[in-house]
Amino acid sequence: MKKFFSEFKTFALRGNVIDLAVGVIIGAAFQAIVNSLVNDILNPMLGLLFQADFSELTLNVNGVDIKYGSFISAVIQFFLMSLVIFTIIKLINNISEKFAKKLHKEKEAEKLEEAARKKKCPFCKSEIDEEATRCPFCTSELKTINTTDEQIAEKITEK
Ligand SMILES: [Zn+2]
Repeated sequence: MKKFFSEFKTFALRGNVIDLAVGVIIGAAFQAIVNSLVNDILNPMLGLLFQADFSELTLNVNGVDIKYGSFISAVIQFFLMSLVIFTIIKLINNISEKFAKKLHKEKEAEKLEEAARKKKCPFCKSEIDEEATRCPFCTSELKTINTTDEQIAEKITEK
């Protein structure tokens, strides 16, 4: 039972499931709007052509009602609902794509910054922090050598 709950936790906390749940809730919210659009506005408007509510159009064959109006309005509801879901998914994908790109750029910038803060130890050629005064790999002292290097460079440029 404990294993079941821990498995459920890892399943439920994955980003996709939360996205999906949000999608379902938004979809349900839109379902009411789509149903109202079809039942309250589109059906009566289509019904004007037939002088009756479109969803109540029936074909009477030997005393049996074939409710084709109701069926067609169900098809219209389905297509409108797919359109809404498609739009929502596209929107969510765009947002998550932008977010992922931003995250990627931030990581790249961080890496570059980290690389800029590194220098090579002149003795063992290991990458070490720029401000290190002693190499953590070969324990050579670096500050004095750096300053003499700089002094030599300064002397060269002076001449
Ligand atoms: Zn070293």
